[in-house]
Amino acid sequence: MRNWPIAGIKIALAAIISIAFLLFFNNSTAQSGSSPKAHHTPTGFKNNYVPQVTRSFGDFMRWQWESWGLDKTPSTATHSIQADLALLISSTAPTVTWIGHATALVQANGLNVLVDPIFSERASPVQLFGPKRAQPPGVAMADLPHIDAVLISHNHYDHLDRASVAQLDEKAKAEGKTTLFIVPLGLKTWFNDIGIDSVVELDWWEQHKIQGVEFHLTPVQHWSARSINDRSNTLWGGWAVLGADFHWYYAGDTGYSRDFADTAKHFAPRQTEALGGGFDLALIPVGAYEPRWFMTQQHVNPMESLRIHQDVGAKRSIGVHWGTFSLTDEPLDQPPRDLAIARQASNVKETDFGVLAIGESKQFAKRTVASSVAAR
Ligand code: ZN
Ligand code: ZN
Repeated sequence: MRNWPIAGIKIALAAIISIAFLLFFNNSTAQSGSSPKAHHTPTGFKNNYVPQVTRSFGDFMRWQWESWGLDKTPSTATHSIQADLALLISSTAPTVTWIGHATALVQANGLNVLVDPIFSERASPVQLFGPKRAQPPGVAMADLPHIDAVLISHNHYDHLDRASVAQLDEKAKAEGKTTLFIVPLGLKTWFNDIGIDSVVELDWWEQHKIQGVEFHLTPVQHWSARSINDRSNTLWGGWAVLGADFHWYYAGDTGYSRDFADTAKHFAPRQTEALGGGFDLALIPVGAYEPRWFMTQQHVNPMESLRIHQDVGAKRSIGVHWGTFSLTDEPLDQPPRDLAIARQASNVKETDFGVLAIGESKQFAKRTVASSVAAR
């Protein structure tokens, strides 16, 4: 009996530790602690070249304090145009359409692919508050052609919007078709839980094929979280899509790192001059970068975006992740101006790395392969 209080305290402590473990180290089945992969750890996924990209709560408060009252008014009123909807259903050339923020429709290799779709009014868990979109989506969801695949870079609210993916799934089902969601490791359960079953999840450097077109998840430098207790539980990444007509790349949400040189090296054997050269197009984030002391490791600025364009060996790049949701300290229309300065400093032409208006489409030539050995 004398030992009972001590035993009781031990049981209570064990319960508290267990609950804390479940809350703060709530790993999904995706991260097996015994995995030999360096980016898998018992407490979540990690980046290749920095130990930690997120800042402390104190740093976050300092940023909020310093940016209080900052004038972020854009100097240009709008940068959107009426989408050419006829083109979206008739184009046979590789075509990219910017829908806003990081959402883009890429039509190439016989497939319609949507990246990081967000059509909601706010990039937030709730639609009452949180970053509100400055301009409507460049193409309404109802006007989209059938989407064969949706690529998700990570689970932040401005990239993975529950309402949008649910509506895309419902739209495909209503047409008697299927949209496949290709996602980073750990996110399949989230999709299944909201009733979406056509999901494939991949680890870095893994691929999934649709009609011979390869979708590869590639490493970038970022993090993930949708609540206070799931940080880095699911993976993040960029996407390399290789088809006979077109090789394209989407860098997701990222800080600058050697991951982009690694990506070029990984695909180099497939992208020799005889095989049509490097990526025909890269979609690279150019926004959400101020203040640098807070953002550097998780978000590139346009100068670094330009280095990614060069590192991955893109023939052309288009800047995304700007102009739609005000997430950071620079005005919404600042990224193209800073990109122009970066281009000038690096002698890169605007035709090689520019931006589109929201709703604007751009067509590209198909790859010309010198030999009969096309991309598989
Ligand atoms: Zn993010
Ligand atoms: Zn983002």
